[in-house]
Amino acid sequence: MASIACEAVLLRAVEFGESDLVVHLLTEEGGRLTAIAKSARKSLRRFPGTLDLFNHLAIEGRTRPRGGMGFLERARLVDPHLGLRRDPARYALASFLVELLDRLSPEAMEAVEARPLFALASRSLALIERVRPTPSLRILLELRLLDALGLRPELERCVRCGREPGDDVPDAHGVNFHVPDGGLVCSACARGQEGLVPIALGTLRALADGLVRPFDELAEQALPQAGVREAARLAFRFQRFHVGVELRSERFLDEALPIPPPGPGPA
Ligand SMILES: [Zn+2]
Repeated sequence: MASIACEAVLLRAVEFGESDLVVHLLTEEGGRLTAIAKSARKSLRRFPGTLDLFNHLAIEGRTRPRGGMGFLERARLVDPHLGLRRDPARYALASFLVELLDRLSPEAMEAVEARPLFALASRSLALIERVRPTPSLRILLELRLLDALGLRPELERCVRCGREPGDDVPDAHGVNFHVPDGGLVCSACARGQEGLVPIALGTLRALADGLVRPFDELAEQALPQAGVREAARLAFRFQRFHVGVELRSERFLDEALPIPPPGPGPA
């Protein structure tokens, strides 16, 4: 086994045996790590109240080269992200994002790939702590995280013909998103096809912008009011296709940070 010493965010902790915990961590140097913390429910010396959800930690442990269960030997608290526990919307969105990371982050990643994923995860938690989340922020953070996990939806060019949809006929009334192909399908290519998610051009462009704009500006970006619902549907269908099952936090998130009904005017 190799040793690891770096920063990590706690994604999940499950009681194991009489006094142990199995923790799921997103580490800065190696991606996802599942590790057993021996006597964690007894030992305040090695784990002094550190193994709680969302906690940003400095850890020491041992890992297997190709993933699988490792050992957590020490953990020191860097930032408990207490603000995430302040209200249900923050807590629910943070729970959703860490669950997504727990499901989709690869194990035993190269450090060069693990670092940007870890950075995005910790910046996302810090942002939700600072700014009360809106439905727009929920959708944009979900897409940014999926992008960092290697699942970037194609929002600018048609995945069939490569054309950028324009404001002229026939795309002006909206285009479509094909979930298994992970990208937009222009109106010409969409004819006669099934399983497409319709989406307005303005919404699509706002989502494409949300994928590339500086992270610190994300909280200021509001999706067009009429488009929040269709953007949420697109993000949801894309996420579910890749995760495969319903996330435990999804219903709680829908209650704590609901997607508003479609606004007035053309969608
Ligand atoms: Zn096309």
